[in-house]
Amino acid sequence: MADFSTITYEVDTAVCTITLDRPEVANAQNTELIDELDAAFDRADADDAVRVVVLAANGRHWSAGHDLKALVGDAEPDEWRLMRETPEGKWHHEKVMYFDRCLRIRDFRKPTIAAVQGKCIAAGVMLACMCDLIVASDDASFQNPVLRMTGAAVEILVEPWEMPARKAKEFLLAAETFSAAEAERLGMVNRVVPRDELAAAARELADRIALVPPATAQVVKRSINKTLDLQGQRDAWDYHFQAHHWMHNTATALEALEARKAKGSMKEVFAEHTTADEADDS
Ligand code: ZN
Repeated sequence: MADFSTITYEVDTAVCTITLDRPEVANAQNTELIDELDAAFDRADADDAVRVVVLAANGRHWSAGHDLKALVGDAEPDEWRLMRETPEGKWHHEKVMYFDRCLRIRDFRKPTIAAVQGKCIAAGVMLACMCDLIVASDDASFQNPVLRMTGAAVEILVEPWEMPARKAKEFLLAAETFSAAEAERLGMVNRVVPRDELAAAARELADRIALVPPATAQVVKRSINKTLDLQGQRDAWDYHFQAHHWMHNTATALEALEARKAKGSMKEVFAEHTTADEADDS
């Protein structure tokens, strides 16, 4: 079924593989990709043959985050672009397109595995962490360097749940890049494999999970997620979404946004402040 243009969708026996397919922009997430990802998960949900979903990406890098260039330019649908010009519109856009769409993957009833290679940045980290398991290639790295660009992390603050709080502070405040090996040590990643074995390793894990009767796998996934909810994960994420939006509308962030629009690129505006070669602040 070749009816997607920014992702690919493939089912092989019990395993569905959804692959981000904008390698020319390091799989930056634009509106079309986020919509297609949502539709792909709908399809995987409805297909009783599918027991496990692997979320992969084509090209060198897994995802550079949200496609901020498209959002600041005129490449995105007017509906969202114009909405973002008011605080309430920006809140609504990010609630629907970033927060809810990601949580939908976190709450997806069937088990999911992210297969991550290359750079996984900002909203890329957020997306990967919505999956139940993460397999990374040995060339993978994780970073969320948007604080220097005034972004209060991204919409869902996954870090304190993916690593100890002290490491989460280092990761965000110092814009530290964590290698795949470090991410595995911290418990954020399940296993690290050589780059050319990534797809096979994710597949092998998916096949093993597919041996569990679907109802059983799904009820246990739900119980583990409920445990996190009871520990406050959902409330903490709700809090951070509001805090993230408070930051979006501060003078600090609005002045930076104007500077970016004037210069056309966040990278130029903040080049002296960041070492990230690709990042978003959305
Ligand atoms: Zn935002």
